[in-house]
Amino acid sequence: MKRVAYILIFFVFFIVIVIPGLIVKSCRTILPERPRQQREFEKPDRKENTVALYINSIKKVEKIPFEEYVKGVVAAEMPAGFQMEAIKAQAVAARTYAYLRWREAGGNGCSLHPEADVCDDPTHCQAWITKGEMLRKWGIFSFYHYYSKINQAVSATEGMIMLYDGKPIDPVFFSTSNGKTENSEDVWENYIPYLRSVTSPDEETSPKFLEIKQFPIDDVVMKLRQKWPDIVIDSKNPERQWKVLEVSAGGRIKTMQVGNKTIKGTEFRQLFDLNSTDIKWERAGKSIKFTCVGFGHGVGMSQYGANAMARNGSTFVDILKHYYTGVEIKKVL
Ligand SMILES: [Zn+2]
Repeated sequence: MKRVAYILIFFVFFIVIVIPGLIVKSCRTILPERPRQQREFEKPDRKENTVALYINSIKKVEKIPFEEYVKGVVAAEMPAGFQMEAIKAQAVAARTYAYLRWREAGGNGCSLHPEADVCDDPTHCQAWITKGEMLRKWGIFSFYHYYSKINQAVSATEGMIMLYDGKPIDPVFFSTSNGKTENSEDVWENYIPYLRSVTSPDEETSPKFLEIKQFPIDDVVMKLRQKWPDIVIDSKNPERQWKVLEVSAGGRIKTMQVGNKTIKGTEFRQLFDLNSTDIKWERAGKSIKFTCVGFGHGVGMSQYGANAMARNGSTFVDILKHYYTGVEIKKVL
């Protein structure tokens, strides 16, 4: 019995260790060694494009490779769980935004920090986060998945920006629409040809689609009087003196009457810190209840709308051409 066991062990050793070893050795002798790349065929190092970014937390300007900068913006500005084509659209928008301000391409840089092309303040330029901040934002288990997704979206659109009439556009965007976007001049002062009102359906899945907010009457009246000290308003029933005067192409309040004042929908939104200018109100006992649809200014690309388009099979080019009227997408970097 013992002898049989020894023979068996010998055979197993022979099959598992010796034979594969002999095969590998013979292959090495048959296959020629890979020729080493010759120096004269090596491409010269391309000068890397960098963005001078003012980082508010350290109050310093850092030079960051352009495409790396785009990744940090996409990670900060769009939920990483979104569809790949929506993330690619955001990558092109982020790159276009920085390119327009990039001093090496004739841009004016960040107006708050003249020594930088852009800053990372989302209320001034666009938000941007480091890899460490991404890790904290998504957690260790989602970090690799989300980072590689953003990496893929940025690489797939490398160097691409949006142009209108041959010039880089200002690619404004916002979170969630009410079903339509806005004409630029209905929200801000200027008519911008590529910022036109378009439909933007299927955004109900956004957590910001509907907002309900209630304020006691006294607070409402106090806020109105603080903002416009000479306002004439009924302090018991202020809402009876509110009337929508003009509705924008995007179905939001453009101007309204509040007591003896004619104000913009954007001013009313700001006063009560509401999500959008698609505002309805009603009396609820001693309070006024506001119901808002959508989140953000409504001009340019809706992020949740872009995600809905991607879910329905649109590419990033379809998405960008839908939200930015008449643009072309070109590789410039
Ligand atoms: Zn800035």
